[in-house]
Amino acid sequence: MYDVLSQDIMYLHGVGPKRVKIFNKDLEIFSLRDLLYYFPHKYIDRSRIYRINELEENMAAIQIIGQIKLLTEVGIGRRKRLEAIFDDGTGVIRLVWFGGINYIKRQLKLNMDYLVFGRPSVFNHEINVTQPEMTLLNKIPAIDHLAKLRPVYSLTESMRNSGITSSVIEQMIGDVFAKLNNVHIPETLPEYFRAKYDLIGLEEALREIHIPSDMEKVRQAERRLKFEELFYVQLDILNYADLRSKKYRGFVFSKIGPHFMTFYNEHLPFKLTEAQKRVIKEIRNDLGSGLQMNRLLQGDVGSGKTIVALMTMLIALDNGYQTCIMAPTEILAEQHYATVKRLLGDMDVKVALLTGVVKGKRRAQILEGTLSGNVNILVGTHALLGDIVSFRNVGLAIIDEQHRFGVEQRAKLWQKNDSPPHILVMTATPIPRTLAMTVYGDLDVSVINELPPGRKSIKTLHYYEENEEKLVNLVRREIETGRQAYFVFPLIEESEKSDLRDLENGFEHICELFKEMKVAKLHGRMKETEKNAVMDAFKTGEYNILVSTTVIEVGVDVPNASVMVIMNANRFGLAQLHQLRGRVGRGADQSYCVLVTGYKISEISSRRLEIMVDSTDGFYIAEEDLKLRGPGLLEGTQQSGIIFNLKIANVIKDNDLLVLARNAAQELLKADPDRNSPANVVIWRQMLQKHKTTVDLSNIS
Ligand code: ADP
Ligand code: MG
Repeated sequence: MYDVLSQDIMYLHGVGPKRVKIFNKDLEIFSLRDLLYYFPHKYIDRSRIYRINELEENMAAIQIIGQIKLLTEVGIGRRKRLEAIFDDGTGVIRLVWFGGINYIKRQLKLNMDYLVFGRPSVFNHEINVTQPEMTLLNKIPAIDHLAKLRPVYSLTESMRNSGITSSVIEQMIGDVFAKLNNVHIPETLPEYFRAKYDLIGLEEALREIHIPSDMEKVRQAERRLKFEELFYVQLDILNYADLRSKKYRGFVFSKIGPHFMTFYNEHLPFKLTEAQKRVIKEIRNDLGSGLQMNRLLQGDVGSGKTIVALMTMLIALDNGYQTCIMAPTEILAEQHYATVKRLLGDMDVKVALLTGVVKGKRRAQILEGTLSGNVNILVGTHALLGDIVSFRNVGLAIIDEQHRFGVEQRAKLWQKNDSPPHILVMTATPIPRTLAMTVYGDLDVSVINELPPGRKSIKTLHYYEENEEKLVNLVRREIETGRQAYFVFPLIEESEKSDLRDLENGFEHICELFKEMKVAKLHGRMKETEKNAVMDAFKTGEYNILVSTTVIEVGVDVPNASVMVIMNANRFGLAQLHQLRGRVGRGADQSYCVLVTGYKISEISSRRLEIMVDSTDGFYIAEEDLKLRGPGLLEGTQQSGIIFNLKIANVIKDNDLLVLARNAAQELLKADPDRNSPANVVIWRQMLQKHKTTVDLSNIS
């Protein structure tokens, strides 16, 4: 059957090569189908026409009908704008355009009736409408739509500049439906299934979402399209998880042997917390189950994930397998390496470090040791993922601070052995359970919900820049008792010169403030070897103060440091502030986190700082963060294409629907385990088709 919807959009009415290019480039819209899946973000009741003398400030978008009496370009250069004096008989207002002036000017005609659509605002005590959409009243479709609820589509800058308005898209979509004529859009969910979950048909849904009869219909259409979207993602994840567990036997780590026992009895430097014990037990169960482990370990900063990782690795060694642990930065890898070596002491375990800076002969040696099985624990950065790194027999891979790694990178770990190794992913970013299952597939979650005993909760203070003395006194007092301090400067882009200058100036200033102290500097542009040298020296107490960018954000562990000063704290996000604060309070003494800002900060920044001062609970902070940012932006999920690839559903807002879709997928797999029931042909075919366009989720976790 010929698929009308696969036709190129260039065959649509009024769409020339220039516009086609913009649709291709800006929105990845090529075919009629792509266009139909470009959904409006809101609807506006355009049945009402206002009179100019009724207009007020703070109105939503409105429509007026009248004529342009005068058209002029005002200003020069980048400030240039186009202004029209617009008259409807009841009054006169100014219409203003800032972008796409040349195009718009060419289109507009004086003394003709226009339908104007836009938002009134007040400028110089006058009502203006900026960037209004103009439709000549003799153009039929506009009149046609007048009495209707109309969709509003998002536009990009270049769309605006070449005259592609929301109405243009609306007309294109109208043209798609006209082209379809009597051809029906193939349904993607079987009827029995739609009845079961109360979903309207696909064709109806697509029509109503673009050309709505009323808001109730829009709601039904959205529900159907969102459900479908979430359902196929979930089905894909569960289907592959299911196939995977059938195909691969997990390595069975049945023994708790001498490595684990020796460590537990002779080397453990502290008593494990109950939460640590519980998590180790959960992991042990997985490792012995015969299935491949895919576990996410969540634990707030400082909750003691590292020791859990090490003990898990020892279980692997006891069962004759190699293991590796991967960290997101060189500093962190270096630190893990040192920690692991220190904790193991004289135990007979060969640990090696592989990062980008390990070169030459040493690198060759480590690679060889890894291949021969001589290396038991390989610690490293993403350098571990390189094809050149081959193990003799790797049975477990641990990923620390997972949110720094991309999906595809994680997938590479799977190929490091004939059967995929057990995977443990550790993160300090609390991710709601339902979100975790959407993003990471069929992943089990363990939580360390308790900090080691005797920790004094960190005191968080908000100081103003103008009040430097207070800050200096606090830091000096701590250093005089033998403690150390961090000063962190925001560096949004490590490459931004101005930010680096902030750090340099800050460094000089701090050196002056603390003349008698030893102050070191650390930033991402330094060579790895330099960075490591500075970090080591700070660790051994050679420096009192470390002035740094956020390169120290994740995982750095110097228990003697008791003050974290965060400069321009208003420029950091909550998750980052929390991570940074987690660098102190790692010993038993009182620690401090000082958030420094100017007097003038935005309301949202001020709220963030308030949250930080109030709480040290990472889960609470993550929740508040979510409220402030709105959904879809939860840190730790940006790299997951899955959230961005969703066109209509939102995994946080549409949580109920997500759970329903997941259950539906689960039920379907149970009811049709051979995936061959005639009733579900449509579903299985659709799943395969969609799968081609998504990441191979089976390999993520
Ligand atoms: P994170 O979960 O942030 O990676 P770490 O594993 O770095 O935390 O542990 C933070 C600090 O707490 C380390 O200095 C570690 O030695 C210490 N620690 C971990 N577990 C315990 C425990 N059960 N009792 C006391 N100290 C602990
Ligand atoms: Mg850690």
